[in-house]
Amino acid sequence: MNGSPRITPDELKAIFDRLQHGGIHGLLVSGPNELYEQLGKIGYQTGIQIHTWRWTINRGQYLEQHPEWNAVNRLGQSVVDHPPYVNYYRWLCPSHPEVRDLLIQDYRSLAAIPGISGVHLDYVRYSDIYLPIGLQPKYNLVQDHEMPEFDYCYCPRCREGFRSRHGYDPLDLPDPSTDTLWHQYRLDLLVDLVRAIADAVHEVKSVVTAAVFPTPEIARRMVRQDWSRFQLDAYMPMLYHQFYHEPVEWIPQCIQDIREEMGDTSSVYAGIMNNPEVFTPEVLARTYDQVISAGGQGLSFFTAGGVTEEQLKVLTR
Ligand SMILES: [Zn+2]
Repeated sequence: MNGSPRITPDELKAIFDRLQHGGIHGLLVSGPNELYEQLGKIGYQTGIQIHTWRWTINRGQYLEQHPEWNAVNRLGQSVVDHPPYVNYYRWLCPSHPEVRDLLIQDYRSLAAIPGISGVHLDYVRYSDIYLPIGLQPKYNLVQDHEMPEFDYCYCPRCREGFRSRHGYDPLDLPDPSTDTLWHQYRLDLLVDLVRAIADAVHEVKSVVTAAVFPTPEIARRMVRQDWSRFQLDAYMPMLYHQFYHEPVEWIPQCIQDIREEMGDTSSVYAGIMNNPEVFTPEVLARTYDQVISAGGQGLSFFTAGGVTEEQLKVLTR
């Protein structure tokens, strides 16, 4: 949910009470640090976990002050003046020590706020090399190969870091998209960063969760997000089946694929794009049961605001 300081504490308490009694155990809330200080208390009173939801790599905060921290595509274009797909896509480059330090510090300070149960990472990935098949027509795209304008990051620091380890510049390759070392190098950069954030949060006795692409295999291919190696406490894979032109049964199938790759090492909550017309009580109940049978711990809704009374009844049956 998106929190706003304009909501009164009593209104928030009523929202939290309704959800808590409806079988929702935690909320991922987006907002400024001051809001979290207020919510931590109310969460504690109402028995609902509050996790701070903040975008990780997609941050437009440093475009003017530190343009060099921002990601560059294979054409040499920075997100500073060439954001891909949409104007709010302003990705940081995970190579920069300053970026790493500020993200670690940010999540550590969120985790230390009294009453906050954990931090939630979102957009913790590179920009989409491939959009989900259902979204490509919206941008008049047919993405049947890695297109250079959507392939990141080729900033001087990434290229030099790779060259010093492997002896060549990825831009000198006839087709960088087929180079497995270059692909792996970028996966590892992000994995290292996320693990460092998780270590810092664990030091203050809190937990880290993340919204991730549907399965580790899909995530590596579409957004270079190797989340099976992130070592977080829980994952909310975004199993938005309609974006992928898949039936609703694809949701538990993804949970099964995740378990096959990761075993039982961490909790997984199937993320659904909640539309009560799609997730009728019957469909929601069946999906929930199938997710649990496939090894998931439950569901996560995008977003809590749209959850109906009928759906809450399913969760408390
Ligand atoms: Zn870079």
